Amino acid sequence: MAVLPIRIMGDPVLHAPAGLVEEITDEIRTLVADMFETMDAAPGVGLAGPQVGVPLRLFTYSYTDDDGAPWRGVVINPELWQRPLDPGDPDEDEESEGCLSFPGERFPLRRSDEVLVTGTDLEGEPVRIQVAGWRARIMQHEFDHLDGILYVDRLGDGDWKTAQKIARKRGWGRPGQAWTPGVDDIDA
Ligand code: ZN
Repeated sequence: MAVLPIRIMGDPVLHAPAGLVEEITDEIRTLVADMFETMDAAPGVGLAGPQVGVPLRLFTYSYTDDDGAPWRGVVINPELWQRPLDPGDPDEDEESEGCLSFPGERFPLRRSDEVLVTGTDLEGEPVRIQVAGWRARIMQHEFDHLDGILYVDRLGDGDWKTAQKIARKRGWGRPGQAWTPGVDDIDA
């Protein structure tokens, strides 16, 4: 197992739709094990294939509720359905999210409050994840990565401009930028 470098905004792999996983091979199993290790090391609540430079439709997730119950897994070739967004502006405190591919920042973003995700697990068995609240946000965020969408692409005008400014200042927004948890000193 290995902690993989995480691509940063501007790397083309993050901005193009990913392809289907055709077959669950040993290579895919190793990739998923490495993605869990990378996500935990970051630490993050989710990690999608493109974020580690692999343009395939799969993501890992890991989130522990306030009551301490762990929620963790991998979805291969996911499909996602979501309830329509509630109208209005997102709340800075309750609705801010971050991304390991735009590390160290958080911005408010309205997300659907409930989603259904289907796909398969690493054994090829069907999975069906119906979740609400923060878990639904994680699913939408990771699913977006598979379509080449970063959450900063979805921000309102003011925050979008701020994000672009930050990216320019840090030399992001161009190919080849990455950071490795445990190696590079970034507070994600
Ligand atoms: Zn992300």
